[in-house]
Amino acid sequence: MSARRSTVDAAVVGAGLGGLVAARELRRAGRSVAVLEARDRVGGRLLNAEIGDGKVVEVGGQWAGPTQKRVLALARELGIETFPTHTAGENVIEWRSRLVRSRGSIPRINDAVLLDVAQAQARIDRMARQVPLDAPWLAPKAERWDGQTVESWLRRNVATAGALDLFRIGVEAVWAADAADVSLLHLLFYTHSAGSFDDLIGTEGGAQQDRFVGGSQLIALKLAEDLGGDVKLESPVRRIEHTDSGVRLVADGGEFEAGAAIVAIPPALCGRLVYDPPLPAIRDQLTQRMPQGTVIKCMALYERPFWRDAGLSGQATSTEGPVKVMFDNSPPDGSPGVMLGFLEGRQARELGEWDPEARRNAVVDCFRRIFGPGAAKPLDYVERVWAQEEWTRGCYGCYMPPGGWVSYGRALRAPIGRIHWAGAESATVWNGYMDGAIQSGERAAAEVLDELDGS
Ligand SMILES: Cc1cc2nc3c(=O)[nH]c(=O)nc-3n(C[C@H](O)[C@H](O)[C@H](O)COP(=O)(O)OP(=O)(O)OC[C@H]3O[C@@H](n4cnc5c(N)ncnc54)[C@H](O)[C@@H]3O)c2cc1C
Repeated sequence: MSARRSTVDAAVVGAGLGGLVAARELRRAGRSVAVLEARDRVGGRLLNAEIGDGKVVEVGGQWAGPTQKRVLALARELGIETFPTHTAGENVIEWRSRLVRSRGSIPRINDAVLLDVAQAQARIDRMARQVPLDAPWLAPKAERWDGQTVESWLRRNVATAGALDLFRIGVEAVWAADAADVSLLHLLFYTHSAGSFDDLIGTEGGAQQDRFVGGSQLIALKLAEDLGGDVKLESPVRRIEHTDSGVRLVADGGEFEAGAAIVAIPPALCGRLVYDPPLPAIRDQLTQRMPQGTVIKCMALYERPFWRDAGLSGQATSTEGPVKVMFDNSPPDGSPGVMLGFLEGRQARELGEWDPEARRNAVVDCFRRIFGPGAAKPLDYVERVWAQEEWTRGCYGCYMPPGGWVSYGRALRAPIGRIHWAGAESATVWNGYMDGAIQSGERAAAEVLDELDGS
């Protein structure tokens, strides 16, 4: 195949939500674009899986909360409707091998644990509000907070073993990493970027409140449809050459010259491109310090959501695992019944190395322990191991280990000559989420338009 050579106003690396939104903004401003996508599909971390009868489940990102205004507005504009996550009924927690039923996001285990959790959560929210969203390293206690992990803070600031367990599960659920991996400053930044800790972990009123009819990948598919031939699939970018006046992107099967580039991929993958001349040390070292979390999203399909008959919402938590967090993920009409479980952090790393059959058995057995014998024999099973994906290499998003924000954070969004950075990890609001990816695409497009207008 002879290599394509094209010249456009701006080239975008990655056809996830961030890259597609950036391209749309550029096109709306009358600029020509090329979106270079490594995979043979668009959407990146958004991916629908068909489950028969024209229905889908998402094996990647799926929920939107009421304060995620950008993703909700974009979906509305594209004619994609939302429906509420099923929450009617009681939640279950498998607590030290005992099943306890209750309502709300915090399980009713014992009063001392609940008080401990409430106090620590209030402190987290108070500290989080002091972290500037565009410059976490300028928080009044930034060095102190970035000099410790969430685990070390929890050990000093919760009094009960129960609260420690619940917070560890909460951290795994939000960052797909262990509390010992994550900088306290990162947790505080991320919490502020979402609003509050409850906004992160909550279903009704929180980040898990609503789902998209037809699956979240529809948002990316519709954006790509409007961009038409400007999206080039199976075009992984390998190298970016850049000067004061423009960029040249070398992708498999083509070369693209442009006035500017927007790189809309996770930081760890940004560090795997070759730049000529090489990027400044601080930017490269930043990408060495922003690892992706580890998650396997697993769903078992049943004829009906039988747990609803027993008065259960399908939402569950387990201290035993390996699945620690579960949701009813059935389609809007409740057919088939879909039980969703996440393997996160350590469990995802460990079970990610297992044979798929053994992993499926471990997940289904967990569902059986919590929801009874009806869960033992699913009709089907769907999963996605995101750390194994060549063009993602971990999810949900990335986290900062200690020291990352204070020493390297200022390189996160700063353009380098004609290279601009987008992607959910670069967002200030709802960092790590679809909503943040959209904000990042809008911001990077505005930077590029300013630059192109001035050149
Ligand atoms: C299991 C899971 C559950 C999640 N749950 C939620 C949720 O419920 N709600 C929510 O809001 N968010 C959720 N997220 C996060 C959400 O999916 C992401 O924040 C968002 O989709 C990221 O969009 P992006 O454009 O920044 O990055 P990506 O979607 O990662 O897009 C980057 C694109 O770049 C491509 N690419 C990579 N390298 C190259 C290269 N060298 N050349 C060309 N192309 C390249 C990739 O193939 C990809 O298409 C979840 C994610 C996962 C995986």
